[in-house]
Amino acid sequence: QNVVNKIAAGEIIVAPVNALKELIENSVDAGATSIEITIKDGGLKLLQITDNGSGINREDLPILCERFTTSKLKKFEDLEEMQTYGFRGEALASISMIAHLTVTTKTKDSNCAWRAVYADGKLAPPKPGQSPDPKPCAGRQGTQITVEDLFYNTPSRRRAFRSASEEYSKILDVVGRYAVHCNGVAFSCKKHGDTDVGVSTTSTASLVDRIRRIHGSAVANELIEFEVSNIPLAFTSKGMLSNANYHVKKTTLLLFINGRAVESTAIRKAIDATYSTFLPKGGHPFVYLSIEIEPKRVDVNVHPTKREVNFLHEDEIIEKIAAAIQEKLASVDT
Ligand code: ADP
Ligand code: MG
Repeated sequence: QNVVNKIAAGEIIVAPVNALKELIENSVDAGATSIEITIKDGGLKLLQITDNGSGINREDLPILCERFTTSKLKKFEDLEEMQTYGFRGEALASISMIAHLTVTTKTKDSNCAWRAVYADGKLAPPKPGQSPDPKPCAGRQGTQITVEDLFYNTPSRRRAFRSASEEYSKILDVVGRYAVHCNGVAFSCKKHGDTDVGVSTTSTASLVDRIRRIHGSAVANELIEFEVSNIPLAFTSKGMLSNANYHVKKTTLLLFINGRAVESTAIRKAIDATYSTFLPKGGHPFVYLSIEIEPKRVDVNVHPTKREVNFLHEDEIIEKIAAAIQEKLASVDT
């Protein structure tokens, strides 16, 4: 049983960035307006995320890291819809299988915070001989998740990581994506003990300001707002496009579908093709695109770490988006 769980966990979390992405999404789902992240050794030694969201009730802590524990089922009208999200209630369970996990949390109604330590899906004693029950402690509203020694019990996987700085740059990439996407949420991400911050945004910054913070003024000054929707195809999409004055060597695509950072080779190709008539040869765009599609039409089932998504009527939807981008680019005189 445990071996099976460990294998499953290892498939969900193959690198520190996979764990962090799940934790960021949990904080966003909890309504946080501030998300602070601290990293040690590219996340292998420490991944810590502190939010000011709803917090977790004391009575939910014992089962928090059991597989399929989720408070989010109400969001899904039926099982079919739920399944299209691939997996639910597996992130914390998986992390507890392959790392030392500590959760400190306080809800608005609780008069103290609670700290719980987990191993292999269950509450664990913080020190040998101690009780595994959550302990009351001081703390502000919200949740702090501390993940230490990722892959401590799968040494071969751990050894596969050569460079902490490579893992850290993958982490900054994902944090940067959410920092651009999440309106009203202040993000910070830094290495433990460092004063300079890898990512930092404020909760009041506009979308353009957030892009400026993460990607610089050169692109932020050359953005066009963009929006398209279609009722029969059940999607809406909004974003920011670089105009024909700006180009980079490689397409930067910040793609969100239903609030989750994903990849789509098909969308990337369509965007590049659309821009190719506006940009000099070898020039590529910066595009931030947030698409909302009826959840049951989206298939992220393939694999949680595989961020590549597919959705129903993909070709038609991509065509509509590409046509709208084309029109926008053509209408802006630069
Ligand atoms: P899922 O997000 O699919 O529900 P997870 O394993 O990621 O599964 O999280 C399990 C549950 O733990 C969530 O449904 C939520 O109730 C709770 N939870 C996790 N992280 C947080 C957080 N930062 N703030 C509040 N609740 C959280
Ligand atoms: Mg989650």
